[in-house]
Amino acid sequence: MVGRPVSAVCFWTNVSELYGRVGIEARYHTSRRMIPPIANDFVAGEEPATAIEHVTACNRDGVAGILNLLGEHYSQRPPADADTQAYIDLIADLAETGVAGCVSVKPSQIGLDVGVDVFEENLAAIVEAGQQHGRFVWIDMEDHTTTDVTLDAFEKHALGTDGGVGLCTQANLKRTREDIERLADLPGKIRFVKGAYDEPAEIAHKDKAAVDAAYRELLEYAFREFDDGIAVGSHDPAMIEYAADLHAEYGTDYEVQMLMGVREDAQRDLAADGVATYQYIPYGGKWLSYFYRRLRERKENALFALRAIVGR
Ligand SMILES: Cc1cc2nc3c(=O)[nH]c(=O)nc-3n(C[C@H](O)[C@H](O)[C@H](O)COP(=O)(O)OP(=O)(O)OC[C@H]3O[C@@H](n4cnc5c(N)ncnc54)[C@H](O)[C@@H]3O)c2cc1C
Repeated sequence: MVGRPVSAVCFWTNVSELYGRVGIEARYHTSRRMIPPIANDFVAGEEPATAIEHVTACNRDGVAGILNLLGEHYSQRPPADADTQAYIDLIADLAETGVAGCVSVKPSQIGLDVGVDVFEENLAAIVEAGQQHGRFVWIDMEDHTTTDVTLDAFEKHALGTDGGVGLCTQANLKRTREDIERLADLPGKIRFVKGAYDEPAEIAHKDKAAVDAAYRELLEYAFREFDDGIAVGSHDPAMIEYAADLHAEYGTDYEVQMLMGVREDAQRDLAADGVATYQYIPYGGKWLSYFYRRLRERKENALFALRAIVGR
C-alpha cells in the first residue's frame, strides 16, 4: 500500500509474486537486503523489481510512477555506463510488466561529469530504449553549470522523438523565464519545480517568496502558451491549486508530480479527482544519502523518523 511502511514479510511476499508473474527473477537475482523502515517510505527498495512492485501499488490508486535509479556525479565512465544499462533494462521491464510508469534520469548519473559526449551517448541509448518500448524519458535538471547542455540535449531528443522526452526546469534560476520561451515551441513535456540546488545570488532567487512568485509566473506562462505537456512538480498546495485555476482558465492539460513518501494522501486524492498524477520513485543501493536529504529538508520528517526509532 502506498504511503505506509510495508512490513518485511508482506513486502517480500508481494515481490515474489511479482517475480512469478513477470518472470524477471532470473535477471535480477534479487538479494534479500532490505531498506530499513522509514527510509522505505521514501525509497522503493534496492532492486528494480521492488521499484516496479511499488509502481504497481501506486497504479492501483490511479497514480503513475516515474522511476529514478539513485546515483549522481560519477567521475568515471564505468558506473555511468552501468546505470545507463540499468535504465535500459528497467524500461524493458516496465513495458513487459505493463505498469503505468516511466523513468527520470540525472545527467551526471549517465556521464556528464566524465564528458558531454559520454552524457549524450548514454542519453541517446536510454531515449532509444524508451522509443522502442513506448516509455517516456524525463531528464532531471541539476545545478546551473549543467543547464545549457541539458537544455540542448532535451531539444535534440524532443524533436527527434516528437515528444517522447521531458525536461525539468527550476523556478529559482532567473534564466528559466527565458528558457521556457525556447521550450514552448518544442514537443515533449516540461516539469516545473522550485529548484533543489543552492545557487549563487547573482543568478538565482534566494528568498522563498521570490521563488514562489517566479514559480507562479512560469506556470501562468506555460498554461497560456503551451499546447500541453505541463508537469507541476511540487508538493505545495498553493501551487497545485493555482495550476487547477490556470487549467480552468486556459483549458491546457497538465499533470502533478510528487515524490514518494511526501503527501501521498494528496496524490491519491488528486488522482481520484481525475488529475493525472505521478509519483517520483527513487530506488537503488545509494539510498542513504537521499533519505538523509529528505529528513534534513523537513523537520516533520525527522521527527517522524525519530518517533519510529524510539518505538512506535
Ligand atoms: C517530481 C519531482 C521532481 C523533481 N525534480 C527536480 C529536479 O530535476 N531538479 C531540481 O532541482 N529539483 C527537483 N525537484 C525538487 C524541487 O525543486 C523542490 O526542491 C521540492 O519539490 C520542494 O519544493 P515544493 O514545491 O515541493 O515545495 P516547498 O516550497 O518545499 O514547500 C511548500 C509547501 O508544500 C508542502 N510540503 C512540502 N514538502 C512537504 C512534505 N515533505 N510533507 C508535507 N508537505 C510538504 C507544505 O505545505 C509546504 O509549506 C523535484 C521535485 C519533485 C516533486
